[in-house]
Amino acid sequence: MNAPATTELPVIVIGAGPAGLAAAAHLLERGIEPLVLEAGPAAGAAVREWSHVRLFSTWGEVVDPAAEKLLAPTGWTRPDPATYPSGGDWCEQYLQPLAEALGERVRTGAEVTGVSRAGRDRIVDADRDVQPFVVHVTYTDGCEERLFARAVIDASGTWTTPSPAGGSGLSALGEKAAADRITYRVPDLKDPAVRARYAGKRTAVIGSGASAFTALAYLADLAKSDDGAGTKGVWILRRGISGSTFGGGEADQLPARGALGLAAKAAVDEGHADAVTGFRTEAIERADDGRLILVGEDGRRLDPVDEVIVLTGFRPDLSFLDELRLGLDERLQAPVALAPLIDPNQHSCGTVYPHGHRELSHPEQGIYLVGMKSYGRAPTFLAMTGYEQVRSVAAAIAGDLDAADRVELTLPETGVCGGAGLFDAPESDQSGGCCAPAPQLGTPVAVGATAAEEAPAGGCCGS
Ligand SMILES: Cc1cc2nc3c(=O)[nH]c(=O)nc-3n(C[C@H](O)[C@H](O)[C@H](O)COP(=O)(O)OP(=O)(O)OC[C@H]3O[C@@H](n4cnc5c(N)ncnc54)[C@H](O)[C@@H]3O)c2cc1C
Repeated sequence: MNAPATTELPVIVIGAGPAGLAAAAHLLERGIEPLVLEAGPAAGAAVREWSHVRLFSTWGEVVDPAAEKLLAPTGWTRPDPATYPSGGDWCEQYLQPLAEALGERVRTGAEVTGVSRAGRDRIVDADRDVQPFVVHVTYTDGCEERLFARAVIDASGTWTTPSPAGGSGLSALGEKAAADRITYRVPDLKDPAVRARYAGKRTAVIGSGASAFTALAYLADLAKSDDGAGTKGVWILRRGISGSTFGGGEADQLPARGALGLAAKAAVDEGHADAVTGFRTEAIERADDGRLILVGEDGRRLDPVDEVIVLTGFRPDLSFLDELRLGLDERLQAPVALAPLIDPNQHSCGTVYPHGHRELSHPEQGIYLVGMKSYGRAPTFLAMTGYEQVRSVAAAIAGDLDAADRVELTLPETGVCGGAGLFDAPESDQSGGCCAPAPQLGTPVAVGATAAEEAPAGGCCGS
């Protein structure tokens, strides 16, 4: 079937998460028809998988203005802007009502498996830019469909592609074989079955971002509870402990985000977790009793653990965009113009400058990666950044470049100035971190100042 005229076509939005649904609201506000394709069974499918985690942003910071306008006529009322939703609240009280307000413009159980230009593979130049996009979708019932679009906004996030435990960014040897005792999510310890898995057990937590802080705090709470005696965390850090290790603490303009790092520090100070610094996981071996032994690149072998929680960040799934001409940074896999603004070697999320359609553009006109996915492997994404991105992109697609270029966003300072500093620098001159001096820990099990920790994949922000 030949492709219809481009201007009659919708803009296809991949993913019905916070960024994708906000994009649809902004497009509608501009009189442009969106079609949102969501692989999961419901809107916010990724957020629902961390529904038990409380956000460190308030309601006031995670509701998109255009979405709010769309919801108002439905009788929707914004929850108290000063309170903190959980992932589940965010879905039930905002993302689901928003998807319902968008109606048939949101298709769930619709996984995008490929995006290209109609009749043009990646190589072909011939009047490429005037061809509509063709989007291949597979529905839950196995049916496939080709859809055409005037532009494509990929808001598919990075939740489905968590980074592995291995110190080199590869899965550690034995990591896949040990999958029965490894999770890549913050465990929901309110779930009795999950709680039983960690109660009284020794659990390694690999990573150094908000999710790792959350997991350590959850394990410490379990250790302090009646049914959690003997619960112990083993916090695996690739770098030494420095001023930025625990985030900005009280200096963080998002107090709940700052509190996460302080809770992790308290878990170590109170002896509910041992910090193992300078450790890059090379292999995960199975002991005779089935427990796991983490082996470091420098040959160290840690005492066996019952469980491992890997929270080393996320990376983008670019496989279904292979036929398009994307301009991505070799480090971050983020758009080349955006990457320098979010490089965790240089920036914490508090120093990320507002950006819009220009920074999100690619050699292929009309394709935009937005939301968590736009940050590639960088850990510092905030929902409010995504909302500003999609406002600018929708304006650009509508041809209103004045509005598209007028990017307005002030991000809350983290209290962590600059980025992660030098990879292998000894603890003493970890100057890239927080302005505050290195915190004095209770009884950390620091085993060598030379080892380093990867740029905070799980930085003190989003992930
Ligand atoms: C535990 C956790 C806590 C966080 N807390 C905060 C916070 O407090 N404040 C803050 O500002 N940010 C926070 N973030 C960061 C960020 O705001 C969220 O991750 C947010 O959900 C990102 O929105 P998104 O729409 O970009 O991606 P997602 O929410 O990941 O949505 C992407 C959607 O695309 C769908 N999808 C994926 N692949 C396909 C495909 N091929 N075809 C169709 N659909 C597809 C997925 O099912 C998903 O529903 C947090 C993140 C995590 C993981």
